[in-house]
Order: sequence, then C-alpha cells, then structure tokens
Amino acid sequence: MKKGWFVVGIIILFMMLPSVLALCVGDFNNDGFVNSGDIAVFSANFNKVCSPSDSQCLLADLNKDGKVNSGDIAIFSFNFGKSCNKKTIIFQFDDVQADWLENVAVKVVNVHISQGIPITIGVIAQNLKSQESNPNSLTSSLKKWYQNNSNIVEIAQHTYNHCCSYSSWSLFKQTEDMQRAQQEFASFGVYPKTFIPAFDWGNANMLQAALNSGLEVMLDATKNDIIQSPRILDNGTWYLYNFKTLDYSTVSNIVDKSSSSYLIVGSHVQDFQNQATIDKLALLLQQLKDSGKYNFKTAYQYYSSS
Ligand SMILES: [Zn+2]
Repeated sequence: MKKGWFVVGIIILFMMLPSVLALCVGDFNNDGFVNSGDIAVFSANFNKVCSPSDSQCLLADLNKDGKVNSGDIAIFSFNFGKSCNKKTIIFQFDDVQADWLENVAVKVVNVHISQGIPITIGVIAQNLKSQESNPNSLTSSLKKWYQNNSNIVEIAQHTYNHCCSYSSWSLFKQTEDMQRAQQEFASFGVYPKTFIPAFDWGNANMLQAALNSGLEVMLDATKNDIIQSPRILDNGTWYLYNFKTLDYSTVSNIVDKSSSSYLIVGSHVQDFQNQATIDKLALLLQQLKDSGKYNFKTAYQYYSSS
C-alpha cells in the first residue's frame, strides 16, 4: 500500500471512531470523561517502571507493558477529550397509593420533575378510580403527570391492592389482579406498561399474567436481567431503605462498581415523610446530574432503548 493511502486510511479510521468510548481507558478519576482531570495520575507516573504494588502506576500503564511511557501517551492522547459510555440510573418509587401519604408522593415526584430526572412510580390501583366517583388528589396528579410529564414520570402498576404475594396464586388469579388494576388506571386515562410485584417475585405464572394484561416490563425480579417478553429488569436493584445512605458518594460508588450498565435505585413513599429526606433527595439528584456521569431513564424508557 502506498504511503498516501495509508494516511487516508488512518484519517478515515479516526472519523469512524465514535466520540463515546465503550471502555473508558484513561478516565483515571472515573468521572466519565478522559480530560484534564486525568492528567495528574498520568504525569505523576510518567517514565516509571511499575512495581506490582504501585496501583497508580499500574493504572497509568494503559498498554500493560509494565512501564508508563510514550506507548501510553499515544493511547491517552487518542482518548483525550472523549466521554465514556454512561451508566443509566433508574429511580423506582414504590407503594404510591390513594388516601395514604399522597402529599409525600406528590412532593417526591415534583422534586424529580423540577430536576428533570425520570422516576418510575409503583402505584397501587385500589381507590384511585375516576375523580368524580372517588375524589382524591393522587388520581388527579397521576392524570396530570401522565398527560404532561410522561418523559419524567412513569406510572407503573404495583398490583391491585398490595394484599398478597403472587407466589401461591394461579395464572388466572394473577391475571385477574393485574387486569383489575389496569382497568382502574384506564378509568382515568392512564395505561401502565411496567409491573412491580407486591412482596416478592411470585411464581412462574407471573410473566404470562403480565403479558395477558398488556404489561411489558417487570421490576423486582429475583433473577438477573433477562431479555424476553415481558422484559425483566433487575440486575442491580438497590434499595435506599431509611435513606441513611442517601448521599452522592454512596450512590455513585454503588453505580460505578456495578457490573451492569444500569442500576435501579429503589425507595418507598413512606421513606420520605420527613421534609429533610426530601431535601436530601433533591441534593442527591442535583449532584448526580452535575457529575455528568450518568443517564437517567424510567424503566420503560430503558427497556425501549436497550
Ligand atoms: Zn410495595
């Protein structure tokens, strides 16, 4: 091959490479970008032969030849300025229902709306009905979110009345419960596509019952993510019980260490009865957003984009 063609080939290769890196080689500070923030680790170890215990040197040794030198500079400068594939965080918020902590549920969802960070809310269908027959503030909020904020707020079904585990129920009984709930939502114009079981994963009938009821995505599985119909999303569900760990460093650490490309961060409406907790959530969302490291999706948005 003539030299000229070789150069053209290299240029075309560069043009074809995506500006988003699948593997974030050179992102030493793990912020989702290979940029000036990563130079320090690199320059501190330049020209070193790495001893097996020198983790920083081994980190900077990008081509794994045991030394940090020009071969590593080539890789680092090639990746410089690029961003890495971002992980997705799905916020799941359970036990939302009429006549109990409605104001709390509305406050939490409003925090997500004002921050522009999606949330999937697991709503218990009983008592919602149309506003005319059974007025409650939650029904009108759900309707409003479904009509105006569907890019941020996903309304998922969390069974008809959260009475029971589905584990001993027949296919017929599970289908009946799910469809009864779907009808309740439909009575005020809301059509959930995601199902969150009440207490546990239930039994083998649950997937068929979901299909019978027009539900496409399942959360809270005991299994890992399985691509099938309906789609099970689970791998890495992490619950923020009591919010002792509701801070940026805890959440980002768990997401960064997870081997999955997404993490579901779950909570319950009852966790937010204290305004201070809602304020902590607002701060957490702001910091996650400001980090630039993550994508945020509802469960259904993740399902339809993956
Ligand atoms: Zn629940």
